[in-house]
Amino acid sequence: MNISELISKRAQGIGPFLAMELLTKARNLESAGRDIIHMELGEPDRSPPQHVGDAAIKAIKDGYSTYTPTQGIIELREAVSLFYQREYGVGIDPGRIIVTMGVSPALFLVFSSILNRGDEVIIHEPYYPPYPQCIKYLDGKVRSVKLDSEAGFPIDTGRLIEAVSNRTKAILINSPSNPTGMMADRQAMKALAESGVFVISDEIYHRITYSTKAASILEFTDNCIVMNGFSKVFGMTGWRLGWIVCPEKLVAAMQRVHQNFFLSANSFVQKAAVHALNGPQEYVTETIDIYDQRRRYLIDALSKLGWELASNPQGAFYLLVDVSSTGLDGMTLADRLLEEAEVAVTPGLDFGETVSGYIRFSYATAIERIEEGVSRIEKWLGMRERDEG
Ligand code: PLP
Repeated sequence: MNISELISKRAQGIGPFLAMELLTKARNLESAGRDIIHMELGEPDRSPPQHVGDAAIKAIKDGYSTYTPTQGIIELREAVSLFYQREYGVGIDPGRIIVTMGVSPALFLVFSSILNRGDEVIIHEPYYPPYPQCIKYLDGKVRSVKLDSEAGFPIDTGRLIEAVSNRTKAILINSPSNPTGMMADRQAMKALAESGVFVISDEIYHRITYSTKAASILEFTDNCIVMNGFSKVFGMTGWRLGWIVCPEKLVAAMQRVHQNFFLSANSFVQKAAVHALNGPQEYVTETIDIYDQRRRYLIDALSKLGWELASNPQGAFYLLVDVSSTGLDGMTLADRLLEEAEVAVTPGLDFGETVSGYIRFSYATAIERIEEGVSRIEKWLGMRERDEG
């Protein structure tokens, strides 16, 4: 049996996640002794809050090492419910919450629970790369609505609603967005809710905002699924924990999928996560201040390099930058920056064809490393000008 017969058509159809591939290349260079500045990763550089770490250690010592109920431990679902009350003034019954090992498995769980072959999901482009992959993998169809680059890629929910057809199962929204940092305002979220279309909202960057607070779709409708998690806000990417809020009528189906494919989320991590939500929140405000300083620095520094920002980010920790002035596409530039300047960034192509002339910077990296990265890029541009221009 040759390799293409062995590997399923489904797995063959799945494209690479370029940011992760770039990370592998960067790690290989590091193994060969090179010092790489990492601005490709959506990975907070701060460790989780101390009290959350202590709670995890205590939970392990106390023997929380078994499977938990599929839906997640009740203390955590109650803490998530309280979070919605505190943050958005919305009452969510803990019975509507399913604890998952992050938003990534939540995507799989959600789409496998609602999609039949050919069902369409509307997404906005530029998008988080796994969205179209996951929808296609689960036999759905992706309808990608291109946001207006000239206007800075605002999340125009009107355009998403206009794209609805009789095959549409849901609209998927991500605000604040990865990779642009743009946010749909309250009015836009309300319009989406009132359109009557089923909405799936990836709210993983909520709370990481710089001027206005992000609105949850749950403030306007229950005809929706919301996904969120601990990775970004609490620096807990490797702990693998998140949750889904869904209408009551979907809980049993989701539970069955979760039961069969994942059994339950990590037990001691669930225990610790209760403390992340219910404990002191200074860590979150401090972290956002730190990101904001880096954001301001990087916006300024990249503009000085003559690179045009795609948008002025209102949330998350990314900057999407138009690099057409270099005469290189984003992929070539990202490769060359890695090899020649030892700076890792993500090629725009990861986020859709329309942004192949862009690269994405993540500023979830220490400011000293960001400054060093900018200075390496500046030198590289200067050398290139001398050699090629
Ligand atoms: N959703 C978006 C928009 C993201 O940017 C990411 C990670 O970068 C995820 C989901 C994945 O989150 P998790 O770590 O909870 O799987």
